[in-house]
Amino acid sequence: MPKKSVADLVCAGRRIFIRADFNVPFDANRQITDDRRIQQCLPTIRHVINHRGRAILTSHLGRPTGDKKTDREFSLQPVADRLRDLLERPVAFCAECVGPKADAAVAAMKDGDVLLLENLRFHPEETMIDLAKKNPDKKLTAEQDARRDTFARGLARHAEMYVNNAFGTCHRKHVSMYDVPALLPSGNRVLGFLVERELQYLGEALRSPKRPFVAVLGGAKVSDKIGVIRSLLDVADRILIGGAMTYTFWAARGQGVGTSLCERDKLDLARELIAQAGDKLVLPGDSVAAAELRAGVATRTVEGPLPDNLMGLDIGPQSVERFTSIIATARTILWNGPVGAFETPPFDAGTTAVARAIAAASGQGAISIVGGGDSAAAVEQAGLAERFTHISTGGGASLEFLEKRKFATIDILDDA
Ligand code: AMP
Repeated sequence: MPKKSVADLVCAGRRIFIRADFNVPFDANRQITDDRRIQQCLPTIRHVINHRGRAILTSHLGRPTGDKKTDREFSLQPVADRLRDLLERPVAFCAECVGPKADAAVAAMKDGDVLLLENLRFHPEETMIDLAKKNPDKKLTAEQDARRDTFARGLARHAEMYVNNAFGTCHRKHVSMYDVPALLPSGNRVLGFLVERELQYLGEALRSPKRPFVAVLGGAKVSDKIGVIRSLLDVADRILIGGAMTYTFWAARGQGVGTSLCERDKLDLARELIAQAGDKLVLPGDSVAAAELRAGVATRTVEGPLPDNLMGLDIGPQSVERFTSIIATARTILWNGPVGAFETPPFDAGTTAVARAIAAASGQGAISIVGGGDSAAAVEQAGLAERFTHISTGGGASLEFLEKRKFATIDILDDA
């Protein structure tokens, strides 16, 4: 069921809680080094204020520890300054997100105003749900639950309407993502434009992809991607595997992997996936290997099994060729995870070649989706971002969506 969008809200005179993702990177001088996450929220903010709504912005930033001195670096104040420049209008900032100061800042708002509240994660209650995993019964204690509830109510009282525009956090049932909309009246809990776009591309690829649909999955661990591989086996025509994951699959087939990263405790699982996938699963046949992972180290291209003293750090040239030719025939391509240790040249070659192949297919009309995180960074690094159909803003979130095809934080919003 599609969800309501911010475009459906009657904003005038209303207090609108916008959960954004302003988790931007900073340099040592506290200067924002990349403001794309702020830019990506502008259409939603502009929509609300152009329709005379009151935009109450919230976000997390980094992982504050509770230490007052060091936590200062996680303040959202610099984001308020950047928003002011980008929106070319005043943006009020409140150094609290709940409590009397925040209540007063919200009460002072007029129609069309923008207010940014301080980092939600200055309150451990925001992410307290994550602690449940550590408790023996996987639930929060009554005391933890009560603290969360108080925090949620402190936030929810600011607003009458709720906009989820934080795709990168959609896989987390944090207070601002789940409990705040749960507390607000139904009818006006909606998707922001950014989340709408993300769900549209990822959802479409899973529901009714143009075929052939080719997925490229890389990265370090099979264990992180098992669920995604299983889920994609239902819909994808081909799944190309790269990265260190390769060697868990190789080891499962009894093939020598040298000193490569390999999850020995996942071999049974890998065998199961190989059996289930048949020829849908395409594994690299050769590797670029070295004695260690270090820039400038001597490398060797090895076909098939690796000798005991070498580790595979990138897909080899034959695999690049094979992957490239499969990608060239695809009409939908979904990519998640680098196919080599791309941060350390020359082991970036395979990943760059995959990025180029997908960009080229995109130029021929294929839909190309990159699932955030490292592969998005690789696409940027190669200067190819413009040539992709969609680059997700959430690595973890897009992986979880590919696996489970839903988010509790979206289900709680109102249907269109
Ligand atoms: P993930 O977070 O699982 O997507 O993994 C991404 C990381 O996997 C990146 O830091 C890559 O450098 C790393 N990686 C990819 N291929 C290899 C490999 N063959 N050996 C070691 N690390 C790798």
